[in-house]
Amino acid sequence: MKPAAFDYAVPATLAEAVALLAQHGGEAKAISGGQSLMPMLNFRLTSPAMLVDLRRISELHGMDIQPAGTRLGARTRWCDIEKSSALAAAQPLLCAAIAHVAHYQVRNRGTVGGSIVHADPAAEMPGLSVALDAQLRLVGAQGERMVPAAEFFTGPLSTVIESDEVLVEVLLPAWPAARRWGFQEFARRRGDYALAGAAVWYDLDSNGSIINAHIAIIGASDRPRRLPTVESVLNGRKPDAASFAAAAQATSAAVDPMTDVHASAEYRRALAGTMVERALSDAAQRAAA
Ligand SMILES: Cc1cc2nc3c(=O)[nH]c(=O)nc-3n(C[C@H](O)[C@H](O)[C@H](O)COP(=O)(O)OP(=O)(O)OC[C@H]3O[C@@H](n4cnc5c(N)ncnc54)[C@H](O)[C@@H]3O)c2cc1C
Repeated sequence: MKPAAFDYAVPATLAEAVALLAQHGGEAKAISGGQSLMPMLNFRLTSPAMLVDLRRISELHGMDIQPAGTRLGARTRWCDIEKSSALAAAQPLLCAAIAHVAHYQVRNRGTVGGSIVHADPAAEMPGLSVALDAQLRLVGAQGERMVPAAEFFTGPLSTVIESDEVLVEVLLPAWPAARRWGFQEFARRRGDYALAGAAVWYDLDSNGSIINAHIAIIGASDRPRRLPTVESVLNGRKPDAASFAAAAQATSAAVDPMTDVHASAEYRRALAGTMVERALSDAAQRAAA
């Protein structure tokens, strides 16, 4: 099937892009890598009157890695992340998880910003943005605002972004070298969306107990989210097999997955617990190694 007819603009500046989006109200849509939007247009799940191509807008490009944190322009592609050894050192959890996104062809075009705004609950980047306490900079006709990733996602394919807003960049806090982290997901084939996955990290206090536990789940909820009840189970405990098993049990109790053609809710519930347990074990083993 082919998309319905639409107008197409390639603005050179952010101000122009915002003006075009505002002028057309909800009838215009931004396009970045097109890897989610084009299939939706082809299936006529959406039929915007105009596409505003973001590719020429300089503010959306590039990454900047500083001791205080990392900036990813919204047009950063999966393959840009994959090729950056500096980013792998500065944000190891992000880079390990992004290696699971899609296939070579999609990775050459798909972007960080497109994935976050598309807000697929099973996609890696939305889950990572929550796990990593990302701040999202949005610019629209009314000005700019920073939105914490934890407040951005409102449901499957739904976010707080307004129709005239562009996601410009993603800001990630600095990552201490001693931090422990793990990422696990299960998909039927490599590169497919995960049936369930977990991005986890924690720090240790001077007694070797867990503090600051962050447990984020993908594919087992209507949106990417952290699991505060699981984090409370871990904080204050030693990072050992018993703690990780308790976290797995708490995860299965905390998630609310859907049944679909790929897996039942019960299966995803159990899988989410297993993914959290394995990711926590990876974190401990990496530190021991
Ligand atoms: C075969 C296949 C397999 C895939 N597998 C995976 C996978 O395993 N994991 C995964 O995470 N993803 C997967 N994807 C999706 C892929 O990662 C997409 O690239 C990504 O979800 C969307 O990024 P994009 O740049 O292509 O966005 P687009 O398709 O261009 O846009 C997506 C949405 O975001 C909006 N948008 C884009 N950029 C902005 C912006 N800066 N500001 C405001 N709105 C914006 C658009 O209007 C649209 O609504 C797969 C895609 C395909 C085709």
